[in-house]
Amino acid sequence: MAELTYRDAVARGIAQEMKRDKDVVFLGEDIAKAGGVFKATVGLYEQFGPLRVRDTPISEQAILGAAMGAAMTGLKPIAEIMFSDFIAVCFDYIANEFPKSRYMSNGQTKCPLVVRTGNGAGSRFGAQHSQSVENWCMMIPGLKVVAPSNPLDVVGLLAAAVRDPDPVIFFEHKSLYPTKGEVPDGEIVDTLGTAKIVQPGKDATICALALMVPRALEAAEKLKTEHGIDCEVVDVRSLVPLDTQTILGSVAKTNRLFTVEENPRLCGWGAEIVSIVADEAFYDLDGPPVRITTPHIPLPAADILEDMVLPNAARYDNLLAGVPTDLWIGGRWCKSSDGARFDVFDPATENVVASVASASVQDAASAVDAAQDAFCAWAARRPRERAEILRKAHELVMRDAERLAKLITLENGKALPDSQSEVAYAAEFFRWYAEEAVRNIGEVSIAPSSGARILVQHRPAGVALLVTPWNYPAAMATRKIAPALAAGCPVVLKPASDTPLTMLALMPIMEEAGVPPGVINVIPSRSSGAVVSAMLHDMRVRVVSFTGSTEVGRKLLREAADNIVKPAMELGGNAPFIVCEDADLDVAVEGAMIAKMRNMGEACTAANRFYVHESVHDRFAEKLTERMAALQMGNGLDEGVVLGPLVNKEGRDKVIELVDDAVSKGAKVLTGGRLPAGPGFFYPATVLVDVPDGAKMLDEEIFGPVASIQRFSSEDEAIRRANGTEYGLVAYVFTRDLARGLRMSERLDFGMIGLNRGLVSDPAAAFGGMKQSGLGREGAHEGLMEFLENQYVSVVW
Ligand code: NAP
Repeated sequence: MAELTYRDAVARGIAQEMKRDKDVVFLGEDIAKAGGVFKATVGLYEQFGPLRVRDTPISEQAILGAAMGAAMTGLKPIAEIMFSDFIAVCFDYIANEFPKSRYMSNGQTKCPLVVRTGNGAGSRFGAQHSQSVENWCMMIPGLKVVAPSNPLDVVGLLAAAVRDPDPVIFFEHKSLYPTKGEVPDGEIVDTLGTAKIVQPGKDATICALALMVPRALEAAEKLKTEHGIDCEVVDVRSLVPLDTQTILGSVAKTNRLFTVEENPRLCGWGAEIVSIVADEAFYDLDGPPVRITTPHIPLPAADILEDMVLPNAARYDNLLAGVPTDLWIGGRWCKSSDGARFDVFDPATENVVASVASASVQDAASAVDAAQDAFCAWAARRPRERAEILRKAHELVMRDAERLAKLITLENGKALPDSQSEVAYAAEFFRWYAEEAVRNIGEVSIAPSSGARILVQHRPAGVALLVTPWNYPAAMATRKIAPALAAGCPVVLKPASDTPLTMLALMPIMEEAGVPPGVINVIPSRSSGAVVSAMLHDMRVRVVSFTGSTEVGRKLLREAADNIVKPAMELGGNAPFIVCEDADLDVAVEGAMIAKMRNMGEACTAANRFYVHESVHDRFAEKLTERMAALQMGNGLDEGVVLGPLVNKEGRDKVIELVDDAVSKGAKVLTGGRLPAGPGFFYPATVLVDVPDGAKMLDEEIFGPVASIQRFSSEDEAIRRANGTEYGLVAYVFTRDLARGLRMSERLDFGMIGLNRGLVSDPAAAFGGMKQSGLGREGAHEGLMEFLENQYVSVVW
């Protein structure tokens, strides 16, 4: 391949076409000895002679008139005019005469003509005019406007332009003339109107034209080396017709678009691309398409791009950089034994954000081996040492809180403020159990009949199997890890497949806090049934602590029975939210917003059934609707967003099904209820009233941002309705009469009651449910006891 300057490439392109086709002629001012104003045609006259290379008078109109005459006689003229500004004076030929002759000859007359002119896309002194000229040209139907970007382009595009049956305006950027590039030997012909991907990338698409292409490449290089942001650079080349397919294809891959243009004033192509992309690929985009225009003086576009691309890239690559994706067994990162992996998705965009190792049954056995190996030494550590490690873990999680919160949002979808509260809540379990680790207090008593001493101590139960859901990827796990470690038990944790990254990211933090190898093992797995079952049938596993659906909990309880494994089960909920006639409605609405909308309704504690006294029903519904309708929905990482997408398609389909069912049975939608278009598993904040008995959402967990409201007329009716479920996790009661509230609490069959509060979760309180909502408690001192076994020594002294 030969290296040519752009100027040489112009000469080569013209010569190539003149050699190939004797009908190609060249017209221009001072083109013979001087090589024209651009010095690009030196030697052309000598090579092709005066009949084919015409020095014309200094008159652009004359050049164009002669060119038109030549074209009408069957020649294929290439006309060079000095600056694009001068197109204005010969506009009539280009805009009217050529199309007219075509029209008058019923399409028989071809009008091949290439008008080459400098300053395309604007530069320095001629910029404003040349850009307006470019815009005029773009508005002439059928007129092709081409702006090459480099030496390679010019040869191929010139060839294509000369062979085109219609006139082509060929804007050349004067500043390109000194640029060099490799031009392959042999004939090159490009396709007019086709954008060209000059550098592939995956994080953002940068569209550029002419001189902006090399600048966009420089910017891309800077972004790549300094920030690891991989930009695709697309040379848009031909302005009309605009090749939107290539551009849309690129954007579909990168989800981000920037156009880089010179001179903001009248340049039109960037605006056109931006509007097309905004229109056609709006839901593919992670941010608005952005036009970047730089002034005449070539400012480095990279600085501007950097500012704009970084916030987006930070969402993904920077956030994921350093997040482990293998199995954490025995203090080492390992691939799965069978090499299996699974994808993790961002629910806001449906993009794959990571691929994570999927543990096999064999890996589960290795994890139990590692935990068992670590057991004795960990259990033998002084409680104070274990407490200090947990205290340190709290400190380190809070140090990394923002990063962890973003990661939760990325894999779970919840809005960043929800994730931030989750991280603080999750960290608090470490602090609470740092304090509980030193309170493993036994008892001594005297047997009433024999007089022997009854000495009771609590011993760590052994290897604990922890299985957690996706709705709180951090907190549901630390609520188990912290008490287990405080008690002296090593753990094997299987996080939910939708959200494995948060726990994997926590492991280096736990290591830094001083947790020895093997004390915590994390094994994400797509084969959860087989992997968990294998561990439950391993005699060394002594505790299973599960948070998830009642259905899976029931299965695990059955399996735990085979080896008499100690179970702790935090299962589903179907929380009633009772608003009495004497409630402070503002307090009740505030409580409802928390009880319903914390975690977008994807919480076992989420208010699922609102029972509102008939005398305040309408006012409550109206106030709640107003608050719900005002919630900003969007990508959870975006500022101001408080309602992110649901975790996955199945989750959203379930919400859609429940709402459709209620509406088909007569419920009225006060707000929401309509699915937004585009990617991401979004569902709007929805309020339903007149939900009839028999609607499925009254019996099943909605697990989404939908409030279903029913009326009641007496306290007895409210209690009866509230208790009319197989679940018994949490209930909420709002009344100004505290005695009444406590009386009602006693009658409600739920493990937890929020009395004038929409939030019950607290590491210092025993969390857990009655009936089908679970067995055992998490948090508080009770949470520690789940990982301890009593041993009683009968002794006489
Ligand atoms: P889930 O489907 O029961 O899954 C929970 C965990 O169990 C996940 O790690 C899951 O792994 C695993 N799993 C699924 N099928 C299994 C099987 N056959 N054998 C062994 N493990 C299995 O629940 P979810 O959809 O993640 O979470 C939502 C549920 O959790 C709701 O019902 C909610 O009320 C409940 N929840 C309860 C509490 C509470 O404290 N009471 C707190 C939060 C959530 P994969 O992800 O790989 O399937």
